[in-house]
Amino acid sequence: MAMTAEAALTVPLGVLLRREVTSERMERPDVLCGEAARSRKGEDFTLLLAEAAQRVAGDPSTSFSVFALFDGHNGSGAAIYAKNNLLNNVLRATPSGLSRDEWLAVLPRSLVAAFVKTDKELQAVAETSGTTVTFVIIDEWVVTVASVGDSRCILESADGSLYHLSADHRFDSNQDEVKRVTACGSKVGQLNVVGGPEVGPLRCWPGGLCLSRSIGDIDVGEWIIPVPHVKQVKLSNAGGRIIIASDGVWDDLTFKMALECSRGYPSDIAANRIVNEAIQPRGLRDDTTCIVVDILPPEKRVPSPPTKWQGKIVLNNMFRRKHPNASFKIDREYAEPDVVEELFEDGSAMLSRRLTTGYALQHMFEPSSCAVCQLRLAPGQGISIHANPLQHEKMQGWQGPFLCRSCHQKKEAMEGKRRPIDSSTSDSSSHVRRRA
Ligand SMILES: [Zn+2]
Repeated sequence: MAMTAEAALTVPLGVLLRREVTSERMERPDVLCGEAARSRKGEDFTLLLAEAAQRVAGDPSTSFSVFALFDGHNGSGAAIYAKNNLLNNVLRATPSGLSRDEWLAVLPRSLVAAFVKTDKELQAVAETSGTTVTFVIIDEWVVTVASVGDSRCILESADGSLYHLSADHRFDSNQDEVKRVTACGSKVGQLNVVGGPEVGPLRCWPGGLCLSRSIGDIDVGEWIIPVPHVKQVKLSNAGGRIIIASDGVWDDLTFKMALECSRGYPSDIAANRIVNEAIQPRGLRDDTTCIVVDILPPEKRVPSPPTKWQGKIVLNNMFRRKHPNASFKIDREYAEPDVVEELFEDGSAMLSRRLTTGYALQHMFEPSSCAVCQLRLAPGQGISIHANPLQHEKMQGWQGPFLCRSCHQKKEAMEGKRRPIDSSTSDSSSHVRRRA
């Protein structure tokens, strides 16, 4: 019998012990960040909060970090407003009393609700500027990134692999978005100078915006939407480096160039090196901003090195590539590889999908509140988010989530079912956005 029991034990004892030890010892990583910016128009804004809030109020062990980049255009009102309000809107959209796993599972949905709510609030005050948003939440080893626009966020894992954590919502590089916006009633094309050739990037008309998603931009058609692409990954205990940067960086640097010019340096120096590398060839042509966040196993924590030489050695060691023959074949199945696990990804523009899929539905919603703005709804007042609620109830046993009338109208408008209310009073058709 003893032999049988032993044979059934498929995971070597050493690996089990290592898992025990590492899960205890490496529960919370150290999160170190640095930023650098060179401003031309003063429309890039950042948010760096190593301890942004706590999942469970009053319990510091449940704190999480937020790092965000807002690249404004046509003014900075939308970028400043989003910087000041987006996190609060995420927190409001997240029910309390959830376990950590539930909290992480509901976060993509909370981010979608918060982006749409923030956009609606700007609409209410007739703020016409717009902003890209790259919003990164780090909870222990789990990184959740919500993005609209063309700032980009990448991750280099400890083994040197590169992961894209954001989407690119430029018409030039996103055919799906060209199709979506065209189907809603906009034209997408280059700027046509009268009597001359078509020039510059693809833009939507009216408005002349190069982006298919943003917060703000109320005068370009409501199908330029704030619904973010959301990606959630879990790092291994070996950690990794995250780089968030505005298009001022990515217009001149490939992801690989950004990683290579900064590898081995502490986060603040790394951010500086990336910005300098980006503006070096052609000078400062746009606001150029970079945030570098290192997620480190606690024992790897190194204070800012007294000399560049020391810092380079320590961090190079951390980011070294694994030797291809490092693990023995027999151990491979049980080894704890430095893999990055993808937990969630969705970039759909449809709210009915973004606010429902992947979760235990009713448990995760305040049944009597609007799923976007959290307005309390009287019985029978909410409008089901589904086009065919009865059909949906047949399949799911529930018609929700529900929206208030105003958020329902916003949803219809984002899907191209409502023409802009005041397009006749706006001169957007003759106005070309200065950037984006
Ligand atoms: Zn609402």
